Amino acid sequence: MAQYNGIFVEYFEGRRPNMTSIDLKQQKIISARDIEAAGISGAAEIIVDSRATLEDAARDMLAKYAIAVRFAGAGEAQKLHDPSTPTADSPRIAEYFYSREALDIKNEICSVGRKLWLRGFVDGNGGNISYRIGEDEVICTPTLFSKFDMNPDDLCLIDLSGNQLAGRRRPTSEVQLHLEVYKNAPQAKAVVHCHAPYATACAICGRVPPTSISSEFDVFIGSVALARYETPGTPEFAATVRPYVANHNAILLANHGVMCWADTPTHAEWYVENLETFCQTFMIARQFGAPYSRISPEKAEALKAARKKYGLPDCNGDDSLAPVLS
Ligand SMILES: [Zn+2]
Repeated sequence: MAQYNGIFVEYFEGRRPNMTSIDLKQQKIISARDIEAAGISGAAEIIVDSRATLEDAARDMLAKYAIAVRFAGAGEAQKLHDPSTPTADSPRIAEYFYSREALDIKNEICSVGRKLWLRGFVDGNGGNISYRIGEDEVICTPTLFSKFDMNPDDLCLIDLSGNQLAGRRRPTSEVQLHLEVYKNAPQAKAVVHCHAPYATACAICGRVPPTSISSEFDVFIGSVALARYETPGTPEFAATVRPYVANHNAILLANHGVMCWADTPTHAEWYVENLETFCQTFMIARQFGAPYSRISPEKAEALKAARKKYGLPDCNGDDSLAPVLS
């Protein structure tokens, strides 16, 4: 968040509830009844020993009551961090999937899903959202699920190789696309893929929107890359974005849709909105038939400087990647 201005920081900090913690450090096993009792008493968080086991039914209760888990004995948890192959009960997995941060992210992903659906950017079970919560851990949306209907306990935890670590539903098959982003653009923390109609129409025509037309578009999106078509869900499909993700936070996927990455799921969704709205606006402007004006190269430099200030990737000079709409 630090790279954004104070308003955004306040928004995210301000919505965190006052937290009531319940100490369950003495227990070796945490049951559903323990969580239910904590939930009924209004707790927002339980503190457990890092070696304690969370029963499956207890995990469901955590989602039901929106309770986060904090692990005491940080040294012990740290020791278990690196070498282990994770199991469903490992503190490492629980830390990434049931912590307060994970709950906040899951709620944010569900909110982003509803925004995408309400904007008409995700049809049927289309679209997917993810967030890199750890070095090797990613929270993502499930397969075959409308983005309007998701609850936090529908989300999955996977590693960067695509193995599922936690979650009762299967992850989206298109998550490989997201993993390519995380592997090739280390500053990317969140990815949104969807089928926003105007931007997808550009992708179908094999054209990217022009720069130096809209100031906001140049700051937050800039030059857009176009990835070639491959069958969705395959490794070949995921590989199509590899050449572009380090230098572009917005990519059109030929004959398919769009993908944006950012530091949070909310901001990735904003970039999709920026991209879609500009594609629509530009199409309307062209229909007027009158010549449209361009931002001068000198003024365009100020927009590039603003883009740099926000920590967005330098996508300039890549216009030759794909034909530009004119
Ligand atoms: Zn798709």
